[in-house]
Amino acid sequence: MLSLQTSIVGRKVIYLREVESTNDLAKLLALHEDEGTVIVADRQTRGRGRIGRRWESPEGGVWMSVILRPPLVLEDLPKVVFMGAVAVVETLEKFGIPGKVKWPNDVLVEGRKIAGILAEGKAGTVVLGIGLNVNNPVPEGAISMKDVLGSNVPLVDVFRTLIARLDEAYSLLKERPASIVEKAKSRMILGVPVIVVGEDIEGIAEDIDEFGRLIVRKPSGEVVKVVYGDLSIRFAQR
Ligand code: ADP
Repeated sequence: MLSLQTSIVGRKVIYLREVESTNDLAKLLALHEDEGTVIVADRQTRGRGRIGRRWESPEGGVWMSVILRPPLVLEDLPKVVFMGAVAVVETLEKFGIPGKVKWPNDVLVEGRKIAGILAEGKAGTVVLGIGLNVNNPVPEGAISMKDVLGSNVPLVDVFRTLIARLDEAYSLLKERPASIVEKAKSRMILGVPVIVVGEDIEGIAEDIDEFGRLIVRKPSGEVVKVVYGDLSIRFAQR
């Protein structure tokens, strides 16, 4: 019915009206499901961001997780996050919306958060969760595709496009992991002043390295590499 032509991502799609968290269910199902299996729900009652922060997921958005078994080590987890971010930006592009990646795991449009990505991994299996605001109401400071375009967007088309882009990005991740970092970098907000939240680091977010670490140049000229983990950045006033 969805006519998904993908090779891995979306080989099987499990749809639920409601779930606590698609990532939690995917982690459970990963015990016996093949890679590529997607869990998608109309709404999540306990959607999560990083370190347990709440992710608002009312009906109208795409709330999904995919089970993956990439031939990578755990240090490569940022590449899986970037794969999700690239797929989201490409999906938005298809609907005429220019999106940018905010290191490490958000996608912004007009400076506001339109999507969040949460990759959780353990021994060989990674669950990649994506929350994308489409027609749903959003928290203050966030934005939806509907807000940008001024009218409702066909949710199933958005989902189908996202699955196709994820499938492409996944084969790239497996064949040439470095190119996923390059792709994410070309769509990332860089060259701007940032503050690393909770750390005493302030400077220009210059670049990312091959492991996805953010390279920040302090006013003193000192360069710090911020490791992907639970850290966030805030854009500072110029
Ligand atoms: P960050 O990457 O910015 O540190 P997380 O990935 O942990 O954030 O995501 C959780 C945060 O995202 C919440 O604390 C809230 O500020 C914001 N948020 C929650 N729901 C949504 C949503 N549907 N759209 C955009 N932002 C949201």
